[in-house]
Amino acid sequence: MKLIPLGISGYLPINGRHSSCFLVLFDDAAFLLDAGTGAARMHEPAIREHLEGVRELHVLLSHYHVDHTAGLYYAFTVRSIERMVIHAPVCPFIQADPEEAIRRYFSPPLNSYTLDTTQLVIEPVNGPEKTIAGHTVRFWAQKHPGGSVGIRIDNALAYVTDTVVMEENAGHLQDLDLLMHELWLNEEDAAKDEHENNRHACFGPVAAFVAKVKPARMMPVHLYPGYDDAALSAMIGELERRSGVPVIMPQEGVPAASAGGS
Ligand SMILES: [Zn+2]
Ligand SMILES: [Zn+2]
Repeated sequence: MKLIPLGISGYLPINGRHSSCFLVLFDDAAFLLDAGTGAARMHEPAIREHLEGVRELHVLLSHYHVDHTAGLYYAFTVRSIERMVIHAPVCPFIQADPEEAIRRYFSPPLNSYTLDTTQLVIEPVNGPEKTIAGHTVRFWAQKHPGGSVGIRIDNALAYVTDTVVMEENAGHLQDLDLLMHELWLNEEDAAKDEHENNRHACFGPVAAFVAKVKPARMMPVHLYPGYDDAALSAMIGELERRSGVPVIMPQEGVPAASAGGS
């Protein structure tokens, strides 16, 4: 498995970081975790090289907020990809009609394409488990305005973003090679901002949760856009110390080393 972060920022693509998007390449399947503005990086020559031979792309959406979906169009226009399947959470996870929502995006005047003329396939995610391109993909509900889902592919990785830390979801994260978990405000800022604390996963609860789940490795995602690199490094270093789990700092466009999970 090869994981290439394409967008590691939450909410805003600023300070040189794109919004949420991660390319996950297995020998036999390609996934995109969310399609924020980072999906535009799929057009960069270095990323296109990784996509050589990929004809089918499975997009797994955590939810529909724009920082996770603005790049659907950018992913869709990668010429080498012949079929793009969007796995879209619906009831009981999220009250949404993805066909209708994505149709609005893929129609004039927002787009020169219409959904009917594209090779896009939208498949609802309405249960806890699906086999996608030979891989076992699991989903569970998370607390976020409008709802979101946690996503796990085999034992290779889990993607947990746009949620508060939910102890009750630890059971979905056992025996995991890589836990990708949202890391929003640092301890100092979280103490001052109850509102954000109730919408996102902030430092203290994340550190305690990672220590409890004990994945082989952890990668923070959906990083607070207002922090500079030094502030992020400091927070991530402290996370590793506090959780006792090796933490990987994601770098956009750079494959994260794989421990070879299934
Ligand atoms: Zn978000
Ligand atoms: Zn959100």
